[in-house]
Amino acid sequence: MLKGKTALVTGSTSGIGLGIAKALAAQGANIVLNGFGDVDGPKAEVSALGVKVAYHGADMSKPAEIEDMMKYAAAQFGRVDILVNNAGIQHVARIENFPVERWDAIIAINMSSAFHATRLALPAMKAADWGRIINVASIHGLVGSAEKSAYVAAKHGVVGLTKVTALENATTGVTCNAICPGWVLTPLVQKQVDAKAAAQGISNEEATKQLLGEKEPSMQFTTPDELGALAVFFCSPAGNNVRGVAWNMDGGWTAQ
Ligand code: NAD
Repeated sequence: MLKGKTALVTGSTSGIGLGIAKALAAQGANIVLNGFGDVDGPKAEVSALGVKVAYHGADMSKPAEIEDMMKYAAAQFGRVDILVNNAGIQHVARIENFPVERWDAIIAINMSSAFHATRLALPAMKAADWGRIINVASIHGLVGSAEKSAYVAAKHGVVGLTKVTALENATTGVTCNAICPGWVLTPLVQKQVDAKAAAQGISNEEATKQLLGEKEPSMQFTTPDELGALAVFFCSPAGNNVRGVAWNMDGGWTAQ
């Protein structure tokens, strides 16, 4: 379905971003990966799906590096047709103890980077009259949780940016939507499970059960594959008139 298209997925060396990159590659899209840590493994996983894969190591907190990445992607594949703004980090602390530099980093990586990549991707998408911008927000773009001030503020901001991007392009073939996952067992969440287990002197299994039990009636993690399937739907012809939604996959978290 996406043969001949190019998808750039930020923060795609791990977790949800890698899951979405693989789902889009399975539909034939060439992929530009981004993120830190191991690059060869994710690159091999994507190219095993029979598409072309490139990588740019832009630090998403730095607008100049984002500009460089967007130019690189266009030079590699001609154009970015699908932009997935996914890179993100977390820090957990009460507001009065929240390190100022962590606040600034979360706002830059989790929110402002989506603005920068979007503003740079839009001209070519509009010229082609086709584009898909998918913002990986979070259930924390819709509701709050204690000790996550920067993350919740950034994710609510991403949901707002999604709506404005969708509206400004509503009469074109460019759509913008947000995905709002509940808990997904990636390194970002594993750190929170480990911290809970250490703080209470309980097993990893017990900490996992507690984490899910506090928020998710389904008592199940959402998987990167399931989120990838939702991204594929947004890119499909059936998604043509889905504009500006914040779609949760949260095991019932926000139904309560
Ligand atoms: P992860 O830690 O597995 O992956 C994060 C990715 O972002 C990695 O590839 C990492 O290298 C990259 N990254 C981090 N800082 C970066 C920077 N400055 N520049 C470029 N890349 C950077 O985490 P994940 O759980 O897969 O999270 C992906 C997205 O999903 C995030 O935006 C996160 O907020 C969101 N999310 C996660 C969950 C969850 O439960 N895991 C739930 C809702 C939303």
